Amino acid sequence: MQILNTDVAVIGGGAAGCYAALNLHRMDLKTIVICKGLIGKSGASIFAGNLVLSGRSLGNSETHARDTAEFLIKYHNQFLIDQEWARQCGQWLEKFYYPELEEAGLYLRRDNDGNVVTSPGKIRSVAANMQGNSGVPFMDLRRKQIIKAGIPRLEETVVTCLLCRLDGSVGGVFCLNYITGEYVVVLARAVVLATGYSDRLHTRSTGTREMSGDGIAMAWRVGASLVNLEMQWWHTNDIAYPPSWQRVQVYPNPMLGSEKSARMVNTEGEEFFNQQQDDPLAYGPYTVQLKALAKQVHAGKARYEGGYFAGFDNCDPREVEAYTTYGKSFRQLGLRFPEDLIETAVTAHYRQGGVDVDTRTMRSSVPGLYVAGGLGGHSNGLIGLATYDGKVVADGIASDLPPQQTGALPEQQMEDERRRLEGLLVARADGVPPAKVKDIIRAMMWEKAGVEKDAASLRSALDDIANFRLNLLPRMSMKRTAKSTNYEWLDAIDAVNMIDACELIIHSSLERKESRGPFMRRDFPLQDNDKWLVANVMKRTENGFRFEQRPYELPLFKPGFATANNLEVAW
Ligand SMILES: Cc1cc2nc3c(=O)[nH]c(=O)nc-3n(C[C@H](O)[C@H](O)[C@H](O)COP(=O)(O)OP(=O)(O)OC[C@H]3O[C@@H](n4cnc5c(N)ncnc54)[C@H](O)[C@@H]3O)c2cc1C
Repeated sequence: MQILNTDVAVIGGGAAGCYAALNLHRMDLKTIVICKGLIGKSGASIFAGNLVLSGRSLGNSETHARDTAEFLIKYHNQFLIDQEWARQCGQWLEKFYYPELEEAGLYLRRDNDGNVVTSPGKIRSVAANMQGNSGVPFMDLRRKQIIKAGIPRLEETVVTCLLCRLDGSVGGVFCLNYITGEYVVVLARAVVLATGYSDRLHTRSTGTREMSGDGIAMAWRVGASLVNLEMQWWHTNDIAYPPSWQRVQVYPNPMLGSEKSARMVNTEGEEFFNQQQDDPLAYGPYTVQLKALAKQVHAGKARYEGGYFAGFDNCDPREVEAYTTYGKSFRQLGLRFPEDLIETAVTAHYRQGGVDVDTRTMRSSVPGLYVAGGLGGHSNGLIGLATYDGKVVADGIASDLPPQQTGALPEQQMEDERRRLEGLLVARADGVPPAKVKDIIRAMMWEKAGVEKDAASLRSALDDIANFRLNLLPRMSMKRTAKSTNYEWLDAIDAVNMIDACELIIHSSLERKESRGPFMRRDFPLQDNDKWLVANVMKRTENGFRFEQRPYELPLFKPGFATANNLEVAW
């Protein structure tokens, strides 16, 4: 077993993890990045279609700056956000993020006169090369920066548990390099978990292969408090078939250089969402689209799994093709563009909630454990916000580190983890493949904790979880029990985390007794700002957990009503 020592171990090679590592390195703190996939090529960051402008950057006016802040707080987070953090994040994006990216060589798309092309309207965005594909060049840049800086990397290496010092603080991680089959222990003065927002916990999900809720499961096991786990976001316009295209979106928001965007049509051919008429303010109004779809589903004119259509037949194809990649998917599927519409379906997108953090330092409730990016429960989505966290966490750690030391080798924890992992590496005569177990978990979550849910479906989901623990997990079985390049073993490790993360999400969903934005309870259809404009905090106790409510300060924007039917609320 390899044992490494460092100041900081950063877990995750997405926007947040990379930027945290680059900043820590600049501060002369010895840093190792550990990534389940490849750094800059795994997780959700590569899917960012475009980059939302913030503050007064790249020609934004004072009004744009205010509208973008309102969009972030209201449409994007349903007021479940630290507004002061949002303000500071916006200022940083304006002053440092865009200038630094351009200086490092990220090409922001320009027109023939050399002007940066933006989407029009109240909330503006830019693209790196093409709208629909910005995350790839963005993350290629980060990968190069990490390599150029000489920051040590452990890639295709999954962190399977956090290691604690005697006082309970986090002081390292246990990892498996699943290519070589070797274990690696990294002892660190501080650990940054940056494993992302988008977990693949539902049948349809934008999350990638690496995203199995590991960060939530590992943080909870060492006692970290969680918050707003129930606040799942959904895409409404992702391609229904083939299933491997579930992450590909028929983008219904304003396009670069055009006023227009895709429209949505129900099973009877009636248009039910057109951004220009239905929601000209919001730049990323997925929740608004979801509410429009929910009404169609209630009327029997669409299903969350399909039976409705989207496309660009209302647009001039030259406008769509000028700066976006959107025509490509249609052509690859043999459809006419822009004449044809395509069947679309709902996909679980990112999660607003996660590990509860102090937004000034990204410290979790467990000493030594920090969080950056989507895993944190303080905000929802966007590559710029995840990047900002990378800066904040580096500053937070730099101010905390003097008292932290690497502890002694936690030999018993290492031995326990080795045994746990090897207990999964078995072949049984009538066993179940781990990939099948993952599918079963996802199908249950889709059916019982999907877009619309109620106490009965959620309680039934908890029964299923108990049953999976008793009857499914112990029957997981591999075809091959070699340690190297054994993806079935990785699937088995994932399945355990998925069950833990799903159970926590279901409990949190039961606790929030209202509907709010994308969180829809059939038994509590009202948005209730009197009782539920609060952080739904889940804390570990000796014999389980308890929930606490923490009100949000509302210095900049307020909802302006006490209760209302969530489907009729405009965000
Ligand atoms: C389909 C899609 C479209 C999007 N569109 C946009 C957009 O247009 N604009 C925008 O701004 N944002 C967009 N986003 C959101 C944004 O890109 C990301 O959510 C954000 O960048 C997340 O960054 P992150 O670093 O927190 O997580 P991620 O990028 O998800 O990175 C997580 C990392 O953690 C690693 N990891 C996970 N588990 C482990 C483990 N156990 N051990 C070691 N490593 C682990 C993964 O391999 C990965 O490297 C989109 C997201 C998706 C999914």
